[in-house]
Amino acid sequence: MREKTVEQYDVVIVGGGPSGLTAAIYCGRARLKTLLIEKSLIGGLATYTNEIENYPGFPDGTGGLQLMELFHKQAKKFGVKIKLTDVKNVELEGDVKKVETFRTIYEAKAVIVAAGGRPRITRATDEERFLFDKGISFCATCDAAANTDKTVMVIGSGDAAIEEGMFLSKFAKEIIVSVIHDEGKMDCNEIARDQALANPKMTFVWNSMVDAFEGEERLERVVLKDLKTGEKKPITVDTCFEFIGYEPNTEIFVGKLNMSKRNYVITNERMETGIPGVFACGDVREKDLKQVATAVGDGAVAGVEAEKFIAETEVFRNQILQTERIGLIYVYSAIDAPSRELLPMMREVEEAYHGQVKLNVIDQYKGKSLCDRLACDVEPMTAFYTKGGEVVEISSKCDKRSVMEMLNTLVQNPIEVVI
Ligand SMILES: Cc1cc2nc3c(=O)[nH]c(=O)nc-3n(C[C@H](O)[C@H](O)[C@H](O)COP(=O)(O)OP(=O)(O)OC[C@H]3O[C@@H](n4cnc5c(N)ncnc54)[C@H](O)[C@@H]3O)c2cc1C
Repeated sequence: MREKTVEQYDVVIVGGGPSGLTAAIYCGRARLKTLLIEKSLIGGLATYTNEIENYPGFPDGTGGLQLMELFHKQAKKFGVKIKLTDVKNVELEGDVKKVETFRTIYEAKAVIVAAGGRPRITRATDEERFLFDKGISFCATCDAAANTDKTVMVIGSGDAAIEEGMFLSKFAKEIIVSVIHDEGKMDCNEIARDQALANPKMTFVWNSMVDAFEGEERLERVVLKDLKTGEKKPITVDTCFEFIGYEPNTEIFVGKLNMSKRNYVITNERMETGIPGVFACGDVREKDLKQVATAVGDGAVAGVEAEKFIAETEVFRNQILQTERIGLIYVYSAIDAPSRELLPMMREVEEAYHGQVKLNVIDQYKGKSLCDRLACDVEPMTAFYTKGGEVVEISSKCDKRSVMEMLNTLVQNPIEVVI
């Protein structure tokens, strides 16, 4: 079998929806060598919607596709490379992360998971036979025109179902909405509900769920089951639109990232996943509000944090754990007077060794992530001694004598300890 090619990047972003594109804009603008990988449509789920009315900056609303084209253009402007292919596997531990596609292994210093979600399906009998282009659709924008003057069914009563159902009513002659709740009860907001109930093209089948999909080559009937009586009723339709929620695209991350019960990725506010250098943003995260605006916010944070992570890794490797000299790393706290007062003494000690010792000072709060890399929960007034880029001693004895005695065991030419 042909060997996969290997390419190196600073950051690889998995997923090209609003969150991935925003992360890409931030990384590209920070001059990181950035690759974004998208398996289907650049713009992700946002391209499914005909009209986005709640994204700030567009008082008259905007089309999902148009908005995503702008995001895409902006990412390209900042030099982001985009590949249209499916990420098959990832190796996220360690300094060099690997993101694998059919032909290539992309190595990266940081990875941003922006894989979003996909529409949930009903799992009713024979659903698989008609998915996507054979009569079951998840995208009103894509398939509304093809249903001009036809009869369509909408499954679901949430905001997406009802809003997309109303959009479909501009094209189709009849929209039959299957709702699992009692008459008049819907999951969408009240304004959408009232508009839908008043829409003459929309009819509702209350207390119902899909039992089966029927047809020859293409979908012809949806069999709805009455949840109260158990009665099954086949309804002839041209297309069935399913809007019953989403599930995350996290299969390739299972067992590799910390996930919620519903398989969404758990992150903190900095979009960190728990694996250093791996971030997650947008709908793929366990969070309450899944919208373009929140995906964009997440993407911005992930992009900035990835950039910070890479910069700090370089400082840590090349400066803090430098290999040329014996290292003295002093962790202090700017708000802790005793630890702060030792700073001038530490500088004197460095000078006394005439180039044999390199001092690095880290403020515990400002340099928290550097402290995390050294050890967990470092107290102010801790000295780390390094040799050849390795920490050889950690000590809370930070008086001049203790520091010099320790350095004398490490340097080639020890000096007299003068207090
Ligand atoms: C019908 C509908 C209407 C909506 N209306 C609105 C609205 O009016 N306003 C609003 O703010 N939000 C709306 N939303 C929600 C909004 O679209 C999402 O919250 C937003 O798109 C999430 O962005 P994301 O980047 O996190 O994920 P997504 O948009 O889901 O993008 C993730 C991308 O990752 C890709 N991907 C996944 N796995 C891989 C892999 N292994 N390899 C490569 N690529 C991969 C996917 O193909 C996808 O393109 C709507 C959603 C839908 C479906």
